Amino acid sequence: MTESDVLIIGGGHNGLTCAAYLAAAGLRVRVLERRHVVGGAAVTEEFHPGFRNSVASYTVSLLNPRVIRDLELARHGLRIVERRMSNFLPTEDGRYLMTGGGRTKAEVAKFSAKDAGRLEDYAANLDTIADLLRELVLQTPPNVVEGSWRTALPELLSAARLGGRLRKLDMARRRELLALFSTSAGDYLDGWFESAPIKAVYGFDGIVGNYASPYTPGSAYVLLHHVFGEVNGNKGAWGHAIGGMGAITQAMAKCAQSRGVQIELESPVREVIVENGRAVGAITERGDTHRASAVVSNLNPKLLYQKLIDPGVLPEEFRQQISRWRCGSGTFRMNVALAELPDFRCLPGRALADHHTAGIIIAPTLGYMEQAYFDARTRGWSHAPIVEMLIPSTLDDSLAPRGQHVASLFCQHVAPQLPNGNSWDLHREEVADLMIETVNAFAPNFKAAVLGRQINSPLDLERTFGLIGGDIFHGQLGLDQMFSARPMLGHGNYRGPLPGLYMCGSGTHPGGGVTGAPGHNAAREIIADFSRRRLARNS
Ligand SMILES: Cc1cc2nc3c(=O)[nH]c(=O)nc-3n(C[C@H](O)[C@H](O)[C@H](O)COP(=O)(O)OP(=O)(O)OC[C@H]3O[C@@H](n4cnc5c(N)ncnc54)[C@H](O)[C@@H]3O)c2cc1C
Repeated sequence: MTESDVLIIGGGHNGLTCAAYLAAAGLRVRVLERRHVVGGAAVTEEFHPGFRNSVASYTVSLLNPRVIRDLELARHGLRIVERRMSNFLPTEDGRYLMTGGGRTKAEVAKFSAKDAGRLEDYAANLDTIADLLRELVLQTPPNVVEGSWRTALPELLSAARLGGRLRKLDMARRRELLALFSTSAGDYLDGWFESAPIKAVYGFDGIVGNYASPYTPGSAYVLLHHVFGEVNGNKGAWGHAIGGMGAITQAMAKCAQSRGVQIELESPVREVIVENGRAVGAITERGDTHRASAVVSNLNPKLLYQKLIDPGVLPEEFRQQISRWRCGSGTFRMNVALAELPDFRCLPGRALADHHTAGIIIAPTLGYMEQAYFDARTRGWSHAPIVEMLIPSTLDDSLAPRGQHVASLFCQHVAPQLPNGNSWDLHREEVADLMIETVNAFAPNFKAAVLGRQINSPLDLERTFGLIGGDIFHGQLGLDQMFSARPMLGHGNYRGPLPGLYMCGSGTHPGGGVTGAPGHNAAREIIADFSRRRLARNS
């Protein structure tokens, strides 16, 4: 048996972040990770001899600058570089749109001078609202509480502070904020632009990990969620962690360990120990007992409350709410080892060029994305699926042998669960072939260049990483599952219904993505509970 102040279940990037902050506050922390490696969905692996890549999560922007600084990730080996271009979108008529690198306006003007003229206003608008989100990501949302004024007052003050922030926005921006929180990405973008390619580039963010049409209300928020990040101070940019996403979590683990955190790999937790209505530790599948004053879960809330806790100790209403927690992304994730770079019909050339470093979007219009969603709903996947391809070896020579490359294929809009009880295990190879054909239609040397591939269907993502329905965010980013309601009203402050039990994963505010924010925020709440003596130290 071991004893610590805090026991963290799961060594994903949020569990590690939480651990590092707690240890910095002088607490004795132990992390139990199910897999042979820490990092959860942010890991790098050799998937074909000589070829390494990020397995799931593959590009960095949302990682909070404060987390980077406080965990001294650069000192622990992390280096993040920007892409030369943001996005490259081949169109159906054989042209292309390239964004970033100071070329966006001229590129958009190829399709619409009017749209090119609106870009600056669009960016300024979105940026003001993204700034508000940036301020909120490291805040604990006001918790909706019942009971006496003593418990309600701090939450009312916190809500008033939030109101104060909103008042800083002028009326036009408030209207924009309302639109972003309530409408669809498609409607929002149709209101700004007339040409299809720029709407497709921006609209793609609205359907990433979001199993919905770009015209589904609420998808505009998902778009916003993907722009509040930054790379090395460049707001809204996306970049690459040298060594892949695993470099982020390895640096986090090094930081945590240097502060005294004990990390145990291959230690899946079977059960949270609850005594007298309080969480006091956990038992692993091996039967090892670990006791602690506080137990923190890095898992999807549904996994925690439905698999690791005796239902009898949870309030009935809470159990019902958790059973309604909506999970499931329509994502299918592949890595491919490439003998050479793709040679696009619309921009020929196999030698490394700017567009090879971009997020390459195979989904020429919002209508194409909508159709992919409808097809997936009815048939399980579309014959014209959405693929974002990144070729990180164009920015990082540690991933593939010289002259060869690795590509991440982030494919959207396959059904999290196939219709008619069909298993993904029977269809993953066929769908992987389809994804490769989809890229090949735009870059005809692609298929022949593939030397090896790694496939993660939604079911694989669930089995390997514990992502229910392959949900990349640990629960959909719908309005009813955000902020104070993440994972549920009354528990938006990282605390569950059992004293001593906390949540620090992406199923809490501000949601998914490699941000470190839930881990940071949960640590602050746990440290506060130790200082208020709601938790007693074991050491
Ligand atoms: C395919 C895919 C692509 C993505 N792309 C991006 C991207 O490019 N950029 C981005 O910012 N975000 C991306 N995301 C989202 C992002 O990766 C996740 O939201 C984030 O990594 C989740 O981090 P977490 O620490 O909250 O949880 P996780 O990473 O899920 O970590 C949870 C940990 O708990 C462990 N665990 C589970 N059960 C147990 C148990 N019983 N006992 C012990 N340990 C357990 C798991 O093994 C895991 O290590 C992507 C996600 C996926 C799946």
